[in-house]
Amino acid sequence: MTYQIPGFPDLSYGTVYCIGRNYAEHIEEMKSSRTKDPVVFLKPRSSIVHDNGTVVIPPQSTDVHHEAEMVLLVGTEAKNLAAGDALTVVKGLAIGIDFTARDLQTEAKQQGKPWTLSKGFDTFAPVGNFTPFTKSIDPGKLSISLRVNDQVRQHDSTDQMIFSAAEIISYLSKQFTLSPGDLIFTGTPKGVSPVTAGDHVIATLGDGISTVHVQIQ
Ligand code: MG
Repeated sequence: MTYQIPGFPDLSYGTVYCIGRNYAEHIEEMKSSRTKDPVVFLKPRSSIVHDNGTVVIPPQSTDVHHEAEMVLLVGTEAKNLAAGDALTVVKGLAIGIDFTARDLQTEAKQQGKPWTLSKGFDTFAPVGNFTPFTKSIDPGKLSISLRVNDQVRQHDSTDQMIFSAAEIISYLSKQFTLSPGDLIFTGTPKGVSPVTAGDHVIATLGDGISTVHVQIQ
């Protein structure tokens, strides 16, 4: 597969960082608990698919859930950023769906194992096209919505995020060197639910910032 980022010919996908437990009502629906620092996990870039792609339910799982999330595209190498400077490295914004094999994740949580297997299957990270990030866009005030077969399952706003985009970038940059092409999934609001083969899923960020349609197989 090609890892070139559509609309950004000089960039290819790097590391896919993801944040968990970043919306209070999603933490509640998962019967999970809030954490002092962001919960961080990674997906392999082979999990990325684009608009109009297909998401394949793997034979390992019988309970795959959608998680609609705002995704940040990193445009600059960065380390140890203060939150006040963190948004300067954002090159684009998109909608993404953090597909999750909930059965495998639940088992991993019970056994104290990483979430990688439940989150990292091929096609488990659809992303829409990135809109270039400008100062006129407030990443803390964007709607996130997701429909399955035209039924609304998630509809919320990034104003409900516990850790803001700037706080997440700052935190990640203190652990890792961020690089151009890295993606950051910023967590999902409430309303996650299972999908099955044949479902059509559409998710959107903001007013025309980014949309992604996928077919479940
Ligand atoms: Mg998620």
